[in-house]
Amino acid sequence: MRKERVLPYGRQWIDEEDIKAVVEVLKSDFITQGPKIREFEEKIAKFVGAKYAVVFNSGTSALHAAYFAFGLSSEDEFITSPITFAATANAGLYLRAKPVFCDIERDTGNVNVKLIEEKITSHTKLIVPVHYAGHPCDMEKIKEIADKYGLFVVEDACHALGAEYKGSKIGSCKYSDATVFSFHPVKHITTGEGGVVATNRKDIYEKLLMFRNHGITKDEKKFLNQKEGDWYYEMHFLGFNYRMTDIQAALGISQLKKLDKFVKRRREIARIYNKAFKDNPYFDTPVEKDYAYHSYHLYSIRLKNEYKNRKKEVFQLLRRKGIGVQVHYIPVYLHPYYQQLGYREGECLLSEDFYRKEISLPLYPAMTEEDVDYTIKAVFEVFEEVAK
Ligand SMILES: *Cc1c(COP(=O)(O)O)cnc(C)c1O
Repeated sequence: MRKERVLPYGRQWIDEEDIKAVVEVLKSDFITQGPKIREFEEKIAKFVGAKYAVVFNSGTSALHAAYFAFGLSSEDEFITSPITFAATANAGLYLRAKPVFCDIERDTGNVNVKLIEEKITSHTKLIVPVHYAGHPCDMEKIKEIADKYGLFVVEDACHALGAEYKGSKIGSCKYSDATVFSFHPVKHITTGEGGVVATNRKDIYEKLLMFRNHGITKDEKKFLNQKEGDWYYEMHFLGFNYRMTDIQAALGISQLKKLDKFVKRRREIARIYNKAFKDNPYFDTPVEKDYAYHSYHLYSIRLKNEYKNRKKEVFQLLRRKGIGVQVHYIPVYLHPYYQQLGYREGECLLSEDFYRKEISLPLYPAMTEEDVDYTIKAVFEVFEEVAK
């Protein structure tokens, strides 16, 4: 049996070109707050088709900044899906706002657009759709609801760099006010840690820049008091140090050149999986709706009802064969911290059912054909054993 090495569910691809880019910055005058940040921001904005991009030291801080920029605060609620990483909801709690969880669609794992309206109250300010696994939410419909009630839309697109909705790139903000991506090593491209907010609004862009740097401005046109000298700057609100370094930005610029290739390779692996697992009796495979170009951050399978109670066993057996499966996600509100805030089991039944059935198989561009074949074989062996 294999294997000294475990296949993780996701991992980075770093090549010599990336290493060279990082080393160049290390030898230069600026290792942070230098020219690479602007360059990376311009290139990301161009890639996703948005006017502006502001990079941050994580996807989480980028979410925090985006929510802040739209004025989310202690009186407000925001609607999101429980099938996401805790950061989507946590970033709102940082601002003392209340996350309201809306249940999902069974097939995509995305928020069920038909259920959003009943979650809206007079306190709702934001809708935060999460493009689960890289499959875009139905953004046109979400935008319609947001416009009807005067809400902002911030996309949590941490899974969806390179994905498209109705022919436009996720991040173009055609149907939203801002879009957030992460550059964690399991995501499509990496800066070690990092994130970005894309937007078409200049006022939001300027707020994001200040939020990243303690709420400070050095732009004298914005000063509230008299400029006292060339050293002068002003702090206007309580921001954070959420800056990315130039070392990271240089890595990001180099990674971005490979993004198209990465997404193509992810889709190719997903196609091989889809073909191998078609009509199998054990689990359902990912879908791609006609409005979606899936970027396959995850290859997410869901056990059929007959096997739902066997997940723990399937998971353990796969791990034992060196398949580094993972589960995405425990519904956010089931975590003890959220329970303590008063959220209760049973709030989003389809999300809880999804969680009981979901397993993510390894999927990342550096996987070899052999890795993919091995995974397929191991999956069938495990299910045949469990079904015996
Ligand atoms: C990765 C991720 C985040 C947070 O990104 P970090 O860069 O790890 O802070 C937020 N939301 C989702 C859905 C993610 O997958």
